[in-house]
Amino acid sequence: MTEVVTSSDERTGEEVQQVGHWIGGKPVPGASGRTGPVYNPATGEQTKEVAFASIEEVDAAVAAAAEAFSAWRATSLSKRTETFFRVRELVHDRREEIARILTEEHGKVFSDAMGEVQRGLEVIEFACGIPTLMKGGFSEQAATGIDVYSIRQPLGVVAGITPFNFPAMVPMWMWAPALACGNAFVLKPSEKDPSASIYVGELLQEAGVPDGVFNVVQGDKVAVDAILEHPGIAAVSFVGSTPIARYIYETGTKHGKRVQALGGAKNHMIVLPDADIEMAADAAVSAAYGSAGERCMAVSVVLAVGEVAEPLVEAIKERLPKISVGPGHEEGSEMGPLITGEHRDRVASFIESGREQGATLVVDGRETAPDCDGFFLGVSLLDDVKPDMHCYQNEIFGPVLEIVRTETYDEAVGLVNANPYGNGVAMFTRDGGAARQFQFDVNVGMVGINVPIPVPVAWYSFGGWKSSLFGDLHAYGPESIMFYTGGKVVTARWPDPATSSVNLGFPQTR
Ligand code: NAD
Repeated sequence: MTEVVTSSDERTGEEVQQVGHWIGGKPVPGASGRTGPVYNPATGEQTKEVAFASIEEVDAAVAAAAEAFSAWRATSLSKRTETFFRVRELVHDRREEIARILTEEHGKVFSDAMGEVQRGLEVIEFACGIPTLMKGGFSEQAATGIDVYSIRQPLGVVAGITPFNFPAMVPMWMWAPALACGNAFVLKPSEKDPSASIYVGELLQEAGVPDGVFNVVQGDKVAVDAILEHPGIAAVSFVGSTPIARYIYETGTKHGKRVQALGGAKNHMIVLPDADIEMAADAAVSAAYGSAGERCMAVSVVLAVGEVAEPLVEAIKERLPKISVGPGHEEGSEMGPLITGEHRDRVASFIESGREQGATLVVDGRETAPDCDGFFLGVSLLDDVKPDMHCYQNEIFGPVLEIVRTETYDEAVGLVNANPYGNGVAMFTRDGGAARQFQFDVNVGMVGINVPIPVPVAWYSFGGWKSSLFGDLHAYGPESIMFYTGGKVVTARWPDPATSSVNLGFPQTR
């Protein structure tokens, strides 16, 4: 990995590693003078300092990408595929190193970090099929002597802006299909866990991706705005919270860019009275507390229908004391800390407001957090939550599961459809007819039937409805090929003197 320069932190006097940018195939230390802290969430200590890019640094990354684009787009599909097979091998071989960086900066437990890399790797594998994916159509003799065919071509320089909760996988959703399609890429990762992207930059270079095809600028709103306004960037992919997703979509499209902006979520899991209670409880606990609830596909609300509520809440409650909360690198830890102390306190405030507004606080994670300086919170369970409560109306993004008791299936689906978000949803039942009706009724982009976290496999696309997605196309899978390419239709005739004549009329199909 690139040697990390250390310098003295003025505030503490201690040495902290500096994380900079990756531009034109080289590490570039930040020159703006603006930086942000990177913590090890398990200890609460600042371990690194990340440079925040200036407008000029974003310009330099776009210039490097623009220069590399011409040769990269002209590289044959088979050569690009060959390069992608090497990328796949390297990411696979170094998955443990990537996962270690994730655990260090994000806090998620190592097994979860390995899972993140694996799901990203699947998107890289999908991108290895690019010659098939970019195939166009061909109509021979569309008119007499005229053939018509469609081709898809890369857009140019495209950018990705990504959230803290999947520092490796979400960028892979973007750069893998974008690069495979022949684009050059500028990534602005989350400033909270910036190092994985630099490591990936090195791996891509080692795999033979030409310098400048993949660039990383670290930073905050200044870098984001420079990307959104840059005339040299054709398209922007964003994943993050809903208010920022809306801003990215509105600003990016105003500047003439193609934009897909995936936002936040409030994912519900309906449990019908006929469901297997043990299986539903296992699923709810895994999906609510995995990665400390910091997943956009986490289950945050269980809608318990009819008489299933009592035994289900009991079964969930029984499982909670067994969850081992601790540092992500420690063997046996199942749930790590939250990303920052500020976020941990925000999540805790929702537990308190739920209790104050009349929910039953069955398990209080504030009491069970490991006693240390890390950003830990134990798991919490709120029962008897009502839709008008503050905790229900907001995305909490932490290890808090809410139970809303409903009388009927219709009431439960009504709540899901009334929610402003529409990312993921699940229903647990043994009744195939009810499940089929549910997939028909529900206004959500990703639906699980007895599957709590229905993240689509790499050859389908990922995306929500309503306030969970701004833009028309979902991430990765076939829709990413549409997003990162422009369509062209060619109408062609080869000179044949026998059919040549002057005709000023509008061309018609003959
Ligand atoms: P965030 O919106 O705070 O940040 C996302 C990105 O936007 C980061 O790169 C950040 O630097 C940048 N950003 C933040 N504030 C900005 C501003 N004012 N102007 C311009 N850019 C800004 O999100 P986060 O806290 O990093 O991630 C958690 C959120 O992401 C949750 O809401 C979660 O649901 C969502 N998420 C959604 C999906 C999905 O696929 N729908 C996947 C993962 C995470």
